[in-house]
Amino acid sequence: MDFAFDNSFHDSMEGFYAPAEAAKPSAPKLLLFNHDLAQRLGIDVGCASDEQLARIFSGEEMPGGANPLALAYAGHQFGHFSPQLGDGRALLLGEVVAPDGARFDVQLKGSGPTPFSRNGDGKAAIGPVLREYLMSEAMAALGVPTTRSLAAVATGDRVQREQAHPGAVLTRIASSHIRVGTFQFFAAHFGADHVVQLSDYVIRRHFPDLADTANPHLALLNRVIGLQCELVACWLGIGFIHGVMNTDNVAVSGETIDYGPCAFMDRFSVNTVFSSIDANGRYAYGRQPQILHWNMARFAEALLPAIHAVDPDGVETAKDLVNEIPERFRAVWHQLVRAKLGLLEDAPDASLIDSLFAALEDNGVDFTSFFRALAMLLRGEGAMLEKLLPTPDAMAPWIALWWEHIEREALSPLEIADAMDGVNPVYVPRNHLVEAALGAAEGGDMAPFLELLEVVRHPYDERPVWALFAGPAPAEFGPYKTFCGT
Ligand code: AMP
Ligand code: MG
Repeated sequence: MDFAFDNSFHDSMEGFYAPAEAAKPSAPKLLLFNHDLAQRLGIDVGCASDEQLARIFSGEEMPGGANPLALAYAGHQFGHFSPQLGDGRALLLGEVVAPDGARFDVQLKGSGPTPFSRNGDGKAAIGPVLREYLMSEAMAALGVPTTRSLAAVATGDRVQREQAHPGAVLTRIASSHIRVGTFQFFAAHFGADHVVQLSDYVIRRHFPDLADTANPHLALLNRVIGLQCELVACWLGIGFIHGVMNTDNVAVSGETIDYGPCAFMDRFSVNTVFSSIDANGRYAYGRQPQILHWNMARFAEALLPAIHAVDPDGVETAKDLVNEIPERFRAVWHQLVRAKLGLLEDAPDASLIDSLFAALEDNGVDFTSFFRALAMLLRGEGAMLEKLLPTPDAMAPWIALWWEHIEREALSPLEIADAMDGVNPVYVPRNHLVEAALGAAEGGDMAPFLELLEVVRHPYDERPVWALFAGPAPAEFGPYKTFCGT
C-alpha cells in the first residue's frame, strides 16, 4: 500500500527528530477504520482486507514512502519544565497531502519504544486508544479543531499498567504534531538559529500568509494566540475539560491534541476536575483560559530569540500580545456564548453571561441539556427546562433578563430556537456512556462502543431512539475519575 507520502518535516528538518521503528505486534487485529477520514485525506485503501489494514496500522508493515520518526520536544508539565520529552510512544509515518491541498501527519500511537521513551514501554492499552478515537471523532463532529483518528488496531500483546491490558495502536491524523514544547526544546538546547528554522517551517506549513509580514515570528505568536483562544472557547462552550494542558500538549496548529484524561462535565461547576493526576485542579474546567494565557507566555518566551533576531523592538510587542490574552479570550468566549443563547445581533453586557454561569452553578444544572432546553422554551415548551432545575422558578430572574434580549432580535423565537439547536449539541460523550462502552470493548464486545460512536458523530441531530444518550449520568454513577494510562 502506498499513501503518496510527501514528508516535508523529514526532508527539511533534519536534527529536529530521531528516526525510529515500530515494534512487531504479535497478532494485529483491526478494531476500527475511519473510511470517511481516509477518503478526506486521499488515502486510497482500495480493497485492502482488514488483515492488511491491521498490519499497516499496527506498524507491522510500513507503507511505501514512509519515513518513520519520533519528534523531539520539551514541555512544562503541571508548571515544571521537563527539558527532554519527545514522542515516547508515537511514530510519525509521514505526511499526506489531501485532494484539497491540506497537509496532514499520519502517526501511530502505541507502536513501541523510540529514542525518547525514557522508562516507558512505548505501548498503549486498548481503553485509552478507543477513548481517544471516540473523543476526537466527537470533537470533530462538534466542530472543534482537533486531531482525528484513522484506525485502531489491537496488537495481540499485553500492556502492563496497574494491571495487564490488551495492547492497541491508534493512528492519529493531525495537521501537524508541532507543539509549544517543540519550540521550547529547541530554544532550551540549541538557541536562535533552530528556533528561527522551526518557526519558518511552521509558517510555511500552516500560515504561509505570515511569511511576508515585517516580523513573521511575531506574527506567528499572534496567530497561535488567536487560534488557542478560539480553541479553549470551543472547549468551554461544550463543557470539555482537556485535563493535561501541559505545553507539550498544545499544538501550534490550534487543534485539540493528546486526549488523555479529558472528559465532559454533566452538572455545571467551574471547578470540575476529572483527572486523577490533577490533584490541585490546575486544569479545572474554569481555569483553562488562565492556563491558555500561561502556556502562550511560555510560547512567547521560546519564540523570543527569533523575534529579537528580526527586530529587537518586537520583544515589547510580544509582551503586549501576551498581556492582552485575557481580554482577547473574553471577546471570543462572549461571542460564542451569545450564539449559544440565540443572541445573534444583540450584544448583551457581560453581566448576562456572568449571571448565567453563576445560576447554572448554584442550581447544579446539566450543562449540555440546558441550552437545548432554552431553545424549547422559545418554542413554548418549558417542561424540559423545569426537569433540569431543582425548583420550577430556580432561574426565573435570569430567564426574564434573557427574554428581554431575545425580544430585541430580528428573527422570531422559532427561528432563533433553530439557530440555537445548530450550535448546542444534544449528544456529547458523557462519562457514564464512555465508561460502559470502553468496559464492553475491553471484554471483546465492540457493539456499545460503535453505537456511542455513531451517536456522538451526530451531536446536533436529535433522534428519539437515542434518548438514553442525552441525559446526565444516573445519580449512583461517580464520583468520576479519569486516568492518563495510554
Ligand atoms: P502525555 O501524557 O501524552 O502528555 O505524555 C508525556 C510524555 O510521556 C511524552 O513525551 C510521551 O511520549 C511520554 N510517554 C507517555 N506514555 C509513554 C509510554 N507508555 N512509553 C513511552 N513514553 C511515554
Ligand atoms: Mg502528550
